[in-house]
Amino acid sequence: MANIPETTRKYDLSFARWVRDNVDGGERMNMCMQCGVCSGSCPLGDHMEDGPRKIFMMVRAGMKEAVLSSNSWRSCVSCYNCVVRCPRKVPVKYILQSLGGLAVREGYAGGAESDNGAFGRAFWKTASTTGRIDERAVTVRYFYNAGGMMGLIKKGMANMHAAMGLVKTKRMPVFAMPDKIKNRPELKAILDKAMEIQARRGA
Ligand code: SF4
Ligand code: SF4
Repeated sequence: MANIPETTRKYDLSFARWVRDNVDGGERMNMCMQCGVCSGSCPLGDHMEDGPRKIFMMVRAGMKEAVLSSNSWRSCVSCYNCVVRCPRKVPVKYILQSLGGLAVREGYAGGAESDNGAFGRAFWKTASTTGRIDERAVTVRYFYNAGGMMGLIKKGMANMHAAMGLVKTKRMPVFAMPDKIKNRPELKAILDKAMEIQARRGA
């Protein structure tokens, strides 16, 4: 992947060209006709600072700083509504995901103590202990770690609208028990080995 262009300007089309050539699905972004179906279908659209339609417009305008510091790529829960509904077959979710990876690489995601870091830990703990991602478990762990029981209640109430959006789009079950894989000791052995290899490489 070519290095992302350095720029001090708010609008710089070299960023738009770079995204087109380097981001997964970026070459299809020119097909976007700004209809807004993706943002309107997104269960987290109200919680994104910009939403996919606007993000694509910002990319086209070369707004590197604004795109990479937006919370839109962090808010995506991979429900694929946007991908299924886009009339121009723009792979919206993949583009956001790829922009997110780029933002992390470029230092826009914050460190371990940031909100993103706290969410990452909650996500990892859930995935590594159950072998599955259950949105309810990740969210409870994330909110609880951030502020104890009061934090959990306050953030839970404040985000009720987002939760309802996830329930409506069948991205979050209400009554089903959280899923777990059968052979969790084997998963643990695999992860321990992976961490051992990573530690060796880092040494
Ligand atoms: S649904 Fe597709 S065409 Fe419409 S704004 Fe979103 S990406 Fe663009
Ligand atoms: S995949 Fe992400 S961006 Fe697309 S509708 Fe779902 S949450 Fe929104």
